[in-house]
Amino acid sequence: MAVAATGDYDDNNIFARILRGEIPSQRVFENDWAVAFHDINPQAPVHVLVIPRGRWRSWADFAARAGEAEIAGFVRAVGQVAHDLGLEEPGYRLLANAGLDAHQEVPHLHVHLFGGRPLGPMLAR
Ligand code: AMP
Repeated sequence: MAVAATGDYDDNNIFARILRGEIPSQRVFENDWAVAFHDINPQAPVHVLVIPRGRWRSWADFAARAGEAEIAGFVRAVGQVAHDLGLEEPGYRLLANAGLDAHQEVPHLHVHLFGGRPLGPMLAR
């Protein structure tokens, strides 16, 4: 079910629970700012989610209110994960859904990282 991009942060969303270790995840990266793990329903040979540790609901929320070190830490983490997974040379796609029109399902900011095959056009027409 899609969720709105705005509103209070829900501490019981599934990614908050993954961050607290209440739900298992296949982690590929973690540091002080971010955690990356395999998507449970992969849409490409590589489909990893990168999430900030902070309580941010959407990109706009994060961009407007997070501290500069946290923003830098998260952006660097996304790049580091792409590098560590060997995707820089073949290429990869980043995608962040926000709100109803984008069909955001989990109300904790996350960037999808896709790779491992030619990914085709950006959006289905
Ligand atoms: P979005 O539509 O951008 O909110 O995407 C949410 C993503 O989270 C989907 O691709 C789901 O497959 C993924 N997802 C949901 N629950 C889990 C979980 N427990 N572990 C890993 N990925 C999950």
